[in-house]
Amino acid sequence: MINEQVWLELSEVLTASKATLVAVSKKQSVAAIEALYKLGQRDFGENYVQEAVEKAAQLPDDIRWHFIGHLQSNKVKYIVPFVHLIQGVESFKLLQEINRQGVKNNRVINVLLQVYIADEATKFGLDEKEVIELMDYYTAQKEQLANVKICGVMGMATATDDEQQLREEFGRLYAVFQNLRQSYFLADGSFKECSMGMSGDYQIALAAGSTMVRIGSLLFGTRV
Ligand SMILES: *Cc1c(COP(=O)(O)O)cnc(C)c1O
Repeated sequence: MINEQVWLELSEVLTASKATLVAVSKKQSVAAIEALYKLGQRDFGENYVQEAVEKAAQLPDDIRWHFIGHLQSNKVKYIVPFVHLIQGVESFKLLQEINRQGVKNNRVINVLLQVYIADEATKFGLDEKEVIELMDYYTAQKEQLANVKICGVMGMATATDDEQQLREEFGRLYAVFQNLRQSYFLADGSFKECSMGMSGDYQIALAAGSTMVRIGSLLFGTRV
């Protein structure tokens, strides 16, 4: 079940840092989500489409569902009706499909671009050049892409205990975030999220400027 004390402490730390806590509830039960909801948690993160759809149908409407991690284009249609923020867009194709489903559902879908910062071949994301290409494309086609809104970036650091390396990786993501915010969104306040930090590294991420942490195992215990 959930760790209430950890939630209370995290909520305080995040309020002080003005950052959002996304409780990563993948593989966790509806009852565990309800228990955190009762404490006041509203942002929850899932990364399996079918699981997200099933849980959203059973839980209160004021939960803000975050889709984190890799999303296949052919599954976008299932989450667009209810998702709050898609964290993990890494291609033109996905951006277009999210827009298309946004039009169908008469919703504007908030997304973050996933940027690759780790030194592991297994993690998804755009490199610094690709992220600029995607922003150029989005800016040039803004009218055709009116049902998708890029609200920031997200990234996952290498799974390591090396704090210096983590600081460097989060620092790089924060620099990408600042650069995009200055280059593309001068007058528009909606580009504001730099989603970084998980159970093992969130303190370093917050120190590096994170506006949103995604925390699973610390809150819920180990996933089964
Ligand atoms: C699972 C997951 C998390 C949470 O990981 P924990 O180490 O359990 O906090 C955060 N972000 C993404 C993208 C994930 O897939």
